[in-house]
Amino acid sequence: MALTETMPAAVPSAHEGILRRQSLRESAARTYARSLPIVPVRARGLTIEGADGRRYLDCLSGAGTLALGHNHPVVLEAIRAVLDSGAPLHVLDLATPVKDAFTTELFATLPRELAEKGRIQFCGPAGTDAVEAAFKLVRTATGRDGLMAFSGAYHGMTSQALAASGGAQHTSVVRLPYPYDYRCPFQTGGERGAELAARWTQSLLDDHKSGVSQPAGMILEPVQGEGGVIPAPDGWLRRMREITAARQIPLIVDEVQTGVGRTGAFWAVDHSGIVPDVIVLSKAIGGSLPLAVIVYREELDAWQPGAHAGTFRGNQLAMAAGAATLAYVRTHGLDRRAGELGARMLDRLGSLAAAHDCIGDVRGRGLMLGVELVDRSADADATGARPADPRLAAAVQHACLDRGLIVELGGRHSAVVRLLPPLTITDEQADAILDRLADAITAAVRTTPGPTGSSPTTMRGTSP
Ligand code: PMP
Repeated sequence: MALTETMPAAVPSAHEGILRRQSLRESAARTYARSLPIVPVRARGLTIEGADGRRYLDCLSGAGTLALGHNHPVVLEAIRAVLDSGAPLHVLDLATPVKDAFTTELFATLPRELAEKGRIQFCGPAGTDAVEAAFKLVRTATGRDGLMAFSGAYHGMTSQALAASGGAQHTSVVRLPYPYDYRCPFQTGGERGAELAARWTQSLLDDHKSGVSQPAGMILEPVQGEGGVIPAPDGWLRRMREITAARQIPLIVDEVQTGVGRTGAFWAVDHSGIVPDVIVLSKAIGGSLPLAVIVYREELDAWQPGAHAGTFRGNQLAMAAGAATLAYVRTHGLDRRAGELGARMLDRLGSLAAAHDCIGDVRGRGLMLGVELVDRSADADATGARPADPRLAAAVQHACLDRGLIVELGGRHSAVVRLLPPLTITDEQADAILDRLADAITAAVRTTPGPTGSSPTTMRGTSP
């Protein structure tokens, strides 16, 4: 009997069927789903289980959203309490006890000056809508129109947020240099590079023939996330604060990704001690559910009722989950823990870089870590930087997934492997993440030819 007659036709697993239907039905613009072909069905903490039964360590964390990891008990309890209470789930922007508690908890964590004299605007539930609100707010308050933003920035996908992002084209947003040590535009790096970047900003504002008029505001990320995990030096942030304050330019700090302990301080601005005029918050403040707000100095509160309306600005479940998350991070000192563990992980990543010449740079702050992969066969520039190697980065991401580790790619050329684990991970889990990453890099360099057509990249020594 022929084999085909005895064997039933292969039935695709539920996992494969779901992935196949997704690729047939979903948009060409889908993103994470392309490089991470998994079907999550259960998750707890750092771990996700797929429909195929495989388990993964999740260092993407909903693009940096899950400060407490998946389904943390305090988050689930807070959500259940709202559901069991019979409270309305949809309330537009009306006052509720849940919202009141969230706002109180949020203000308790913010820089004092901002909390004491701050106003909060609940925005549409995405970070990008809060960025739009921030721009509208400062434009109304100053009566000016222009904005200043930084090379490599990412602020979202709606029109003005996109215009302020590094990938924008044809915009009237004035672009300023962000201090990027490894690829310093002034080819000096370090404090000198950051100082030159600050001076350029200052001269654009003070030279009345620079072609740049007084803007309505300046927006920056304290650590560029999507731009490739680039922490701004604290001194440079203080310079930006001085430059903007001296010229009555509202400073908008986008803490959508850096907030809630991620960088080793509750808010990344706490490292430098600067107090922004507007702080943009989303991701972790919703405790894994959609929520976005801006908090700003009350002097800016000159916009009219309805100036930034929207139907979904009262997500009660997100506020309850968010308040529980903020309180847990605060009372358990998870910001400090992120700083200490992140420093140790960065140390180990440094050893990994010493062992692999395809790693151009490792950097980060707290549990926001990046590994920039480069073409080792290409010549280095004057500061030692080599061209990015996005093909190798994609191979590393793939090899990580094979080893049960989910990582994100970012950076100007998608050549930075990004780690954004929950702040709750144990030392053992951190080691497991780095073991898998090291193994994945070793495997990827063996099989991936360099972008210049050279033979597969090699290791400097043995990985740690
Ligand atoms: N700002 C920053 C710094 C971000 O990282 C992001 C999202 N990655 C956004 C804004 C936009 O947030 P959302 O995707 O929720 O619109």
